[in-house]
Amino acid sequence: MEQGPWSLDGKLLLLKEIIVGEQPAETVFDRVQFWIKANQLPMDKRRKSMVMAMANKMGSFVDFDTSDPFGYKKYTRFRVEIDPSKPILRGMKVLVANVHKWVEFRYEKLPDLCYLCGRFGHCAKECGLYDEKVPESAYPYGSCCEPRQ
Ligand SMILES: [Zn+2]
Repeated sequence: MEQGPWSLDGKLLLLKEIIVGEQPAETVFDRVQFWIKANQLPMDKRRKSMVMAMANKMGSFVDFDTSDPFGYKKYTRFRVEIDPSKPILRGMKVLVANVHKWVEFRYEKLPDLCYLCGRFGHCAKECGLYDEKVPESAYPYGSCCEPRQ
């Protein structure tokens, strides 16, 4: 499961290892893992313990990218497991010197999702929030994904 998330024709594909004795028909697909780049995370918030706390607010912390031990990159990269039925988080406010600073998240290998509500399984035109008068440039989730490779 370490190489996921997977997608099929752009749609999120949920996979899960079957546990011995588990009935496949009763298997619940309620978790998916993503690598996330937290852009412009302040230097004093880039320690693994701080990133773990941030990831655990999103879901469950899985891994921390240690390829940038001095924090010179524009982002801090971590892996988190989230509930795919809930809207993804576009970012998070982080308290820095008594001021809340917005840290943007960029999801790697992000499958298609609704750019209006941030959920998987439908597009903006099928969303209950859809309003033809709102231009796509105003959709709140339009900038969350990394370009596909
Ligand atoms: Zn939607």
